[in-house]
Amino acid sequence: MPRIAVAGAGIGGLAAALALAEVGCAVDVYERAGTLDAVGAGVQLSPNASLVLRRLGVLDELGPAAVESSEVLMRRARDGAVLARVPLGPAAAARYGAPFLSALRADLQAALLARVALRPAIALHLGRAVEGYEGSGRGVALRFADGAAAADGLVGADGIRSAVRRQMTGAGDASASTRSAFRASVPRAAADPDALVPRSNLWLGRGAHLVHYPVDGGRRVNVVAIVDEGAPTGGAETWSQPAEAAAVERRFAGWAPPARRLIAAAPDWRRWPLLDRPPLPRWSDGAVTLLGDAAHPMLPFLAQGAAQSIEDAAVLADAVARCGGDLPAAFRAYEGLRRPRTSRVQAQSAKQGRVYHLGPPASLARDIVLSTLGPARLAARVDWLYDAPAEVRRFAGTRTSAPAPTPT
Ligand SMILES: Cc1cc2nc3c(=O)[nH]c(=O)nc-3n(C[C@H](O)[C@H](O)[C@H](O)COP(=O)(O)OP(=O)(O)OC[C@H]3O[C@@H](n4cnc5c(N)ncnc54)[C@H](O)[C@@H]3O)c2cc1C
Repeated sequence: MPRIAVAGAGIGGLAAALALAEVGCAVDVYERAGTLDAVGAGVQLSPNASLVLRRLGVLDELGPAAVESSEVLMRRARDGAVLARVPLGPAAAARYGAPFLSALRADLQAALLARVALRPAIALHLGRAVEGYEGSGRGVALRFADGAAAADGLVGADGIRSAVRRQMTGAGDASASTRSAFRASVPRAAADPDALVPRSNLWLGRGAHLVHYPVDGGRRVNVVAIVDEGAPTGGAETWSQPAEAAAVERRFAGWAPPARRLIAAAPDWRRWPLLDRPPLPRWSDGAVTLLGDAAHPMLPFLAQGAAQSIEDAAVLADAVARCGGDLPAAFRAYEGLRRPRTSRVQAQSAKQGRVYHLGPPASLARDIVLSTLGPARLAARVDWLYDAPAEVRRFAGTRTSAPAPTPT
């Protein structure tokens, strides 16, 4: 049984630990933080990810805390006109074999940890920051400030500022984009009925967009307001800072009343400068590989960063299960399958941000296209993303049920 070290106990690291344990590995998860506090309020889990979470038993743990979205409702910021409805709910669950869910990050983390606790093969080491590693052939020595540990392989799931990636590729941290996300969580009692409908809402305005969806079994609404700042946003020193409510309200002043009311109902805001980085040319070196944001950070406009890290976990475990104990071969195979997929999602996420923030006249053309496509063609346009690739399904034990894509 190979012993694999995972650096980082975020969504990606915990999913990887569970998936690797599932295929018979012993896993040591080393997490820098002394306690695990979920950051950021909500997370959308598209079917390509929920399929894997179901296989890992995490959906059972989440239970009704996760809200199933019935649709993505796209509206124009100025007047609230409905531009498009992408059907989700039972239609998406049948099409992709798994539901589209929204959850509090704290609930997802608790569900992952509950499954980790059931696995004697996984040891979680808190307050242990991986500083680097030696040897990447057969066997790796991990370095900490206060000692070392040995493993047969190392998975760097240590996030956007990954120490493992820095050592492996020499690549610097992801750079600041020109956008910020403002995040808030609105209690049910303060939210309009419009915001409590179990769906994913997307409002498109010039230089900004707004996303909101119910979480916590419908007891809260997660709100993410993304704005163009006009210049590169701050780096580490401004990460997840409190933000002034009046400034957010001013930025959305000209928007339709339901959007403005939801923004005004937010008790407090936090600002996240959004980071970006083009795909890495490689992310494995012998018995060391990367996963999640450490490998492929992406702008959040397709809501896929966590989902892709969960797909990574499934494909990594499947590759390890098939490698006959040759971890460098497994990690090469994993990277070979994952890099094209995640590079595409990175590129599409960036493009989506540009399309969302268009101003007139380009926004008028966009809105006409959106409102004439119709639900079936809109659904077909997201098949490439929500219909999990074969290598993810192999781990999840399901086959695709989406029809062949229709030309758009
Ligand atoms: C505004 C916004 C909205 C988003 N919405 C969605 C969404 O709806 N759906 C979705 O799928 N994705 C979404 N994402 C993306 C998603 O949050 C991330 O892609 C995902 O959380 C990355 O998970 P990860 O495990 O790779 O990294 P992280 O969550 O960053 O976890 C890394 C872990 O490693 C630890 N660590 C760091 N350095 C070390 C070290 N040296 N040694 C040991 N441990 C270390 C950290 O403490 C942390 O616990 C969103 C992102 C943003 C900014």
